[in-house]
Amino acid sequence: MTVALQEDMNSQSRHKILDGKKLAREIRESVADEARKLEGDGWSPRLVSIAVGDTDAAMLYIRNQRRVAEQTGIAFEERFYSEKVTQEEMLAAIRSLNADPRVSGIILQRPVPKHLSIKQLQSSIHPLKDVEGMHPASIGNIVYNELALGPCTSVASVELLKATGLNLEGLEVVVIGHSEIVGKPIAFLLMSEGATVTVCHHMTRNLSVHSRQADAVFVAVGKPQLITGSMIKPGAAVIDIGINQVSEPEGSTRVVGDADYESCQEVAGWITPVPGGVGPVTVSILMRNTLTALKLQRQHYEAQFGREMI
Ligand code: NAD
Repeated sequence: MTVALQEDMNSQSRHKILDGKKLAREIRESVADEARKLEGDGWSPRLVSIAVGDTDAAMLYIRNQRRVAEQTGIAFEERFYSEKVTQEEMLAAIRSLNADPRVSGIILQRPVPKHLSIKQLQSSIHPLKDVEGMHPASIGNIVYNELALGPCTSVASVELLKATGLNLEGLEVVVIGHSEIVGKPIAFLLMSEGATVTVCHHMTRNLSVHSRQADAVFVAVGKPQLITGSMIKPGAAVIDIGINQVSEPEGSTRVVGDADYESCQEVAGWITPVPGGVGPVTVSILMRNTLTALKLQRQHYEAQFGREMI
């Protein structure tokens, strides 16, 4: 068991909460140590955030990224572009960041205005600066078990499963949701750990037949209460990636995941809360990726120019 586990002694089921905040803190501390060492060698990590148009939805994430970057000793630069910016102007801006040796990583905040192709913009970020792990080259790398810059949410979700101490080799895992940015990369990461993976999606005929077989269930769909306690095997780990805003009868709103926490926690061996599960770990992985990117760039420059020239 790792320290990221917190036994819920109040619960009769004695399920264990997979505390994302605690795991995130552990990752941040090791990132901060490494950032100090790199800084000492003259390599300063710098993350650039790009947001386009109406950034209200992204502002909460950007503020959070800035806070965590500051905690880990990574410089954080925010760039905002007008709603009217063209695809060509955005491509030129990204190209100039790609060429800037002071920039270690680039994050493209979502959503972007409809007239822009997010796929093309994401692909224009240099793979060595792709700290979100969304470039086709990064996604391709995980198919080849090269996990240097993995997609943050997917890596965070798998780290939380590892925090249970379960042996992933041969573990029966069901991933519900098969998006390019979350579900599919989770499935590949788990396969590279030796798990036996079943992927379910909106066309899966009988979801609970699959989910009830699993030692671990990952759910990334965007539907509150999709997974209930009766759909999981007793003792299974539930990693809930969903983020949904639901309205309360009195008019307030709150954020919930895709699993019905009340009924799942009665049956599960481990469960991630929402909020406080996958979310905080995702931001820490983004910072870890920023340092990985910087180290890859350092290797690249040193191989090109030799150590003494830099
Ligand atoms: P998406 O809309 O791209 O994909 C949804 C997936 O769910 C698809 O594969 C679809 O086939 C599947 N699906 C839809 N209805 C289903 C059903 N009834 N049964 C089974 N599968 C069904 O969504 P996404 O971008 O992958 O995001 C999924 C969720 O994860 C959202 O709630 C999103 O907010 C959240 N998310 C969280 C983080 C984080 O850091 N925690 C990051 C990214 C996304």
